[in-house]
Amino acid sequence: MDYTNEKPFIAGNWKMHMTVPEALGIVQKLHEASTELEEKVQLVVIPPFTALSEVGRVLKGSAVGVGAQNMYWEKEGAFTGEVAAPMLKDVGCAFVVIGHSERRQYFGETNEMVNKKIKAALAHDLIPIMCIGETLEERESGSTMDKVGMQIKEGLDGLEAEEVRQIIIAYEPIWAIGTGRTATPDQAQEVHAFIRSKLAEKHGNDSASCAIILYGGSVKPDNSYSLMKEKDINGALVGGASLKAGSFAEIAKEAIKAYEEK
Ligand code: PEP
Repeated sequence: MDYTNEKPFIAGNWKMHMTVPEALGIVQKLHEASTELEEKVQLVVIPPFTALSEVGRVLKGSAVGVGAQNMYWEKEGAFTGEVAAPMLKDVGCAFVVIGHSERRQYFGETNEMVNKKIKAALAHDLIPIMCIGETLEERESGSTMDKVGMQIKEGLDGLEAEEVRQIIIAYEPIWAIGTGRTATPDQAQEVHAFIRSKLAEKHGNDSASCAIILYGGSVKPDNSYSLMKEKDINGALVGGASLKAGSFAEIAKEAIKAYEEK
């Protein structure tokens, strides 16, 4: 993978927001902001399917990467409403989010489905951003690590160490997504360190040390710095605050500052 955890990786998940003109407006602003940040941060936008083609066209050859929010594991066929990996490549995607908690919660995605999608993404040269995380109930009952450990085990089942090195993991506690409630840097670091140790255990030290592990859940310009300063936090998957070019760029700048100091 050309991406590294030696600089922060900041991805903006636009979810079900943005018409094509709105998407192009924000991309234009980001494009301008990114020329100044380019050397120090890796930026990715993750628009809805309908805007991917235009966003991919505008960002082609730029430092800002493009990702999709989901995909199906088959490469083509009679699967009405689904989108396949080769179609995402075709419109300029390098990344695809797999197993976002909203997909798991509202659309019944299981770890087994996540695993199939990851394998299909890798087979078509897309970098999967695999999302994992616990509910509030699970956190309060002390089963966070069990939940996250199981999602890693089943989500990455059957993958070679070399394939695991191509994957980005996003730890997103469900109770922090879109709620304005962020995990404290300590809480996030604890889970990130656990994720890295699980990767080392199952897929080797190399896969663990070079892994990009993102934090997601109400990341904003004012909490980006303290989260990104943590040793095992390599960037952010940002929802709400990525819908404005200004706040997304601010999050990136705070992350750069934190990285320079850690
Ligand atoms: C997300 O969509 O992955 C997310 C973390 O959303 P928010 O930043 O709005 O909590």
